Amino acid sequence: MNKIALITGISGQDGAYLGKLLLDKGYTVIGADRRSARDDKWRLRNLGIENRIIIEDFELSEISQIIRIFNKYKISEVYNLAAQSFVGSSFVNPISTSDVTGIGVLRILEVIRNLKYKPKFYQASSSEMFGAVLESPQKMTTPFNPVSPYAIAKLFAHYTTINYRKAYDMFAVSGICFNHESPLRGEDFITRKITTGLSKIKAGLLDCLEVGNIDAKRDWGFAGDYVNAMWLMLQQKKARDYIIATGKTYTVRQFINEAVKHFGFNTYWVGKNENEKLKLKKNNKVIIKINKKFYRPNEVNKLLGDTSLTEKHLKWKPTVEFKSLVQMMSLSDLKIFNKL
Ligand code: NDP
Ligand code: GDP
Repeated sequence: MNKIALITGISGQDGAYLGKLLLDKGYTVIGADRRSARDDKWRLRNLGIENRIIIEDFELSEISQIIRIFNKYKISEVYNLAAQSFVGSSFVNPISTSDVTGIGVLRILEVIRNLKYKPKFYQASSSEMFGAVLESPQKMTTPFNPVSPYAIAKLFAHYTTINYRKAYDMFAVSGICFNHESPLRGEDFITRKITTGLSKIKAGLLDCLEVGNIDAKRDWGFAGDYVNAMWLMLQQKKARDYIIATGKTYTVRQFINEAVKHFGFNTYWVGKNENEKLKLKKNNKVIIKINKKFYRPNEVNKLLGDTSLTEKHLKWKPTVEFKSLVQMMSLSDLKIFNKL
């Protein structure tokens, strides 16, 4: 019998890649989606799966919608990817972020606990929970130290998932994912902000890109790899949590330096701190500058994941390294914005 998977956050980056992976494996995929006036199916279209996913109305704050979906289908695997996922916005909207990203998970788990059948549950936890890191690299035993409303909400969701696993013997697990990117990444996140920004500059649609802290370091991987680890976690005999990362870390500045090459820009940095600028060698035109508005009230300076246990147990390894990831995203955006 073919398995039915429910993916919340189907319109997001990971939702699209995971939807494609599960369809390719023969699953029936229910995509939980909050209706909006915007075109939120572009990622599914991009991967050619828009018409193969059964879309159901879903809002994480509405428990009745969650109950309705679980009563309508006999779901084998739930992947909870829906969240207010942007750290920057969580400082502006801390209460709604806590409600959706934190309590939303409790709503789903409460609904599952009261079902007659027991689907497996995956929670999208985040490396942001390590926050102002207390150990490097971060592994499963590293203490959490969150420094944003987003990370605190994710930590609530993380512990809630563990609690339901232990208290009610549910197959409920969390993947602590470090940053993962792709051509389908939201444009607010720094990697895609850089590749769309440089593409727009190249196409004459933007003069100069403004960014925040370019010394922040992240362990960046490819989203297509990470959804595979999510699936593997639900295929194990034992329910347990894992770190999903590459084990390498780079600064935002290194991402920029790598990306400019794909746009044919010959550049150099001048100035210090908030006066730092990236200029074109040929005419000294400034193409990137710092705007303090993009600094976070609390910053996570460096993230680096240790995946030794994940690799051993899940036989999982990332396949796309940093340079290829920057190239993939740059070339994709070059194509999009130079056609406009
Ligand atoms: P996206 O921001 O691309 O997708 C988030 C999804 O959640 C969107 O489909 C969005 O819908 C949906 N959503 C937001 N609010 C609600 C709500 N109130 N009710 C229902 N759905 C809602 O995130 P990613 O795909 O990149 O990430 C997937 C998950 O993994 C998220 O939970 C994220 O926090 C987590 N994560 C991601 C990391 C990364 O680097 N990508 C790292 C660690 C964790 P809409 O389109 O309508 O906004
Ligand atoms: P996060 O790790 O989930 O917060 O992912 P982001 O891509 O939003 O940010 C990664 C890092 O880039 C953080 O340390 C940000 O402070 C830093 N950064 C620097 N400039 C910017 C910017 O203009 N936008 C965003 N989103 N992040 C920036």
